Amino acid sequence: MSKSIKAIRGMHDVVPEQTPLWQYLESTIRRILAAYSYQEIRMPVVEKTELFKRSIGEVTDIVEKEMYTFEDRNGDSLTLRPEGTAGCVRAGIENGLLFNQIQRFWYMGPMFRHERPQKGRYRQFHQVGVETYGMDGAEIEAELILLSARIWRDLGLENIELQINTLGSAEERAVYRDILVKYLNAHKDQLDEDSIRRLDSNPLRILDSKNPDMQGLIETAPKLMDHLGADSSAHFTRLKMLLDQAGLTYQVNTRLVRGLDYYCHTVFEWVTDSLGAQGTVCAGGRYDGLIAQLGGKPTHACGFALGEERLIALLEDQGIKPDDTAPHVYLINVGTEAEIKAMELSEILREKVPGLRLLLNCGGGSFKSQMKRADKSGARLALIIGEDELQKSSVGVKFLRSGEDQRMIAMSDLPDIVDELLN
Ligand code: ATP
Ligand code: MG
Repeated sequence: MSKSIKAIRGMHDVVPEQTPLWQYLESTIRRILAAYSYQEIRMPVVEKTELFKRSIGEVTDIVEKEMYTFEDRNGDSLTLRPEGTAGCVRAGIENGLLFNQIQRFWYMGPMFRHERPQKGRYRQFHQVGVETYGMDGAEIEAELILLSARIWRDLGLENIELQINTLGSAEERAVYRDILVKYLNAHKDQLDEDSIRRLDSNPLRILDSKNPDMQGLIETAPKLMDHLGADSSAHFTRLKMLLDQAGLTYQVNTRLVRGLDYYCHTVFEWVTDSLGAQGTVCAGGRYDGLIAQLGGKPTHACGFALGEERLIALLEDQGIKPDDTAPHVYLINVGTEAEIKAMELSEILREKVPGLRLLLNCGGGSFKSQMKRADKSGARLALIIGEDELQKSSVGVKFLRSGEDQRMIAMSDLPDIVDELLN
């Protein structure tokens, strides 16, 4: 026998035992997005490598070392999408959806990053992305934050905290960058290897460092918040006011800079301490500069992405269970004629009893073995058709989860009785 082939490291199957929780997560999110009148957009999973280089930035972790990049048969460099924003903007420009328009989009699907796999960090993972276009001001940012808060609330999740920060305008960021680099250069002896490398390319990311030896240095670093112009300050103040008004609590975290180059003004993260090191379940912010950077007309933009695997882990951790998805009814049938009748009956029942989950025994088997399958399926009722029942045009009803006596009912009464028994 040849050796079996395994899945790729960091890429996981979601087996049927786990899918009800995923469906609960995704259907809750879809319902909330509909309540805010956001529209779904679907993009390819593969894009030209250039798209990500140009949008995410050459000197980010993602582009430097995490992308799945390959040459296709034509020799074009393609990349499995590491995130959805770039593709969404590309699609928006290409389909004429952005210029002079107001849009609220969402998408859901797999993303790919070649990271070191660990709890909450995978090479194929799933995001729900929400992107809005054409809107300036703090209102749309507040709406995105309220929308995400509603997701946690409706899922029944607790212990997820909101952190916000402002990165100011592109110009203010550039000025601050110089101030920060000057400060960090003056303390170069205290920087680790990673930070020295970032000093030229992406100095703001140094503030994000998790290295305990550098925390003192980061604490006393100049803050972007102190170098904002009046407009940017007012923008941030208004966002805080809107969140206060909505009764949301938050922490201003001046070290929150996000890994991607295209953010400006508001950035935010939802963080939990229940998941160990990988505690950010959702992250986003404003990215006004990106559309022009990708060849479109300048357009306001902001959005967020949430990590589905981390939310699933949190749902499990907090003992939140989806509704039962086991079949209501298992239809047992023994004998060639009974098999034909059972198939007909199962279609009638599905037609006449809305919401019914009926599992029809296929592939034969003795009465005893079918009974075992019925029990294992988790069904509440076993319906039984054998030669005897067939002759009497009736069906046996056995209650699998209660002590009620087995009984016989007329086939013609079956839809009404099943409906009654289940409701
Ligand atoms: P992190 O700091 O955890 O690496 P990030 O800043 O790279 O996150 P984003 O690009 O903002 O993450 O993606 C948004 C969300 O997607 C994250 O907050 C997280 O929940 C999820 N996510 C990102 N990378 C992974 C991954 N490799 N595996 C699982 N989920 C991920
Ligand atoms: Mg990352």
